[in-house]
Amino acid sequence: MIHVAVIGGGLAGLTSAIAMAAQGLSVVLIEKKSYPFHRVCGEYVSNEVLPYLHSIGADPSPLHPANISRFLLSSPAGKTLETPLDLGGFGISRYTLDNFLYQHALAHGVEARLRTTVQEVQFANDRFVLRLSGGDTLEAAVVVGAYGKRSSLDRQLGRAFFRARSPYIGVKYHLRLDMPTDLIALHNFQDGYAGISAIEDGRHCFCYLTTRENLRRHGSIPAMEQAVLHQNPHLRRIFREAEFLYEQPEVINEISFATKTCVENHMLMCGDAAGMITPLCGNGMAMAIHAGKLAAEQVVQYFAGGRNRQQLEAGYSRAWKNQFERRLQVGRAVQHLFGSPLLSELTVGALKYSPAAVRLIMRQTHGLPF
Ligand SMILES: Cc1cc2nc3c(=O)[nH]c(=O)nc-3n(C[C@H](O)[C@H](O)[C@H](O)COP(=O)(O)OP(=O)(O)OC[C@H]3O[C@@H](n4cnc5c(N)ncnc54)[C@H](O)[C@@H]3O)c2cc1C
Repeated sequence: MIHVAVIGGGLAGLTSAIAMAAQGLSVVLIEKKSYPFHRVCGEYVSNEVLPYLHSIGADPSPLHPANISRFLLSSPAGKTLETPLDLGGFGISRYTLDNFLYQHALAHGVEARLRTTVQEVQFANDRFVLRLSGGDTLEAAVVVGAYGKRSSLDRQLGRAFFRARSPYIGVKYHLRLDMPTDLIALHNFQDGYAGISAIEDGRHCFCYLTTRENLRRHGSIPAMEQAVLHQNPHLRRIFREAEFLYEQPEVINEISFATKTCVENHMLMCGDAAGMITPLCGNGMAMAIHAGKLAAEQVVQYFAGGRNRQQLEAGYSRAWKNQFERRLQVGRAVQHLFGSPLLSELTVGALKYSPAAVRLIMRQTHGLPF
């Protein structure tokens, strides 16, 4: 039986797998896709993760990410405010970053099962049995659930959020555009917002969140972009001037910001699988990496003999709640401010004269360097 099975090879899964394998544990990472691959994500990573990435030997600077230190917010009508970012961040595509971490995981001795889906997890007699696509089973003493925002495993686990449909969809492009590389911009439009910031190789990531209803009303993504996003002059400029690098955008649906639990059927849940912060906060990736760190620390202590399973779960739960519960609450509250055009006009108008309030929201939705 292996020590740890990690379900899902996003940032939470990859970083926790690296940290646990580096401490001598046998780790199997199961990922349903194969690296490298694109994901819907704004690709702005808060600098709070840098000390930890260095500590696990995964300094991202050789990937030449963009350094981002300024923030611009626009209302649906195009009114703007700009402020420096206290901590700042870096821009790197998930295509590159996840593959980079995957290579590190292999170098640390993590066994990877790619193109493999975990279909069922059972816990009995103090051990887990995972049923994998293709018919294999895997036994593990500990399972880290890092499988992202929504998976058929959530249905199997009977998690409440899975039953409620979520109204949000996400759309992402990579493009080339004449725009400062140290700036991240968040442009609001009716029933949504779009982020744009530089990544590696002189490209930009352009990603937006809107509702399924908005898409249904206009029939197709191009028609919705033309009718709705173009109303904001900053977005209109992006669509007119940028060179779009994909034939088709990446699209996902069923994005839910509902409250979840961080321990489920004795699995330690990490990243979006434990709770997803609204994308306008730009902190989901940092939270995924930080949760991976917390889980790895607890698991290493467990195998060192200092803890029983109950203490492992309680210790992880406590650490997770201390670190993320408040951030997730503030993220949900801020999302409401940008729900309607009128409200986001008023919010941007009010924040324009109160840069301190903008920075307070950022501090409340971000963590400290770890
Ligand atoms: C529109 C949008 C924009 C965003 N912009 C930003 C941003 O700019 N900055 C930021 O910090 N965050 C952003 N986020 C949030 C960020 O993308 C997520 O918080 C982050 O990717 C979570 O990482 P994760 O490791 O938890 O999950 P993921 O990165 O989603 O990884 C989960 C992995 O599990 C795999 N998987 C799922 N089910 C199974 C299974 N049963 N068996 C095996 N494998 C499985 C999936 O294939 C996937 O690779 C954005 C999100 C959205 C929707």
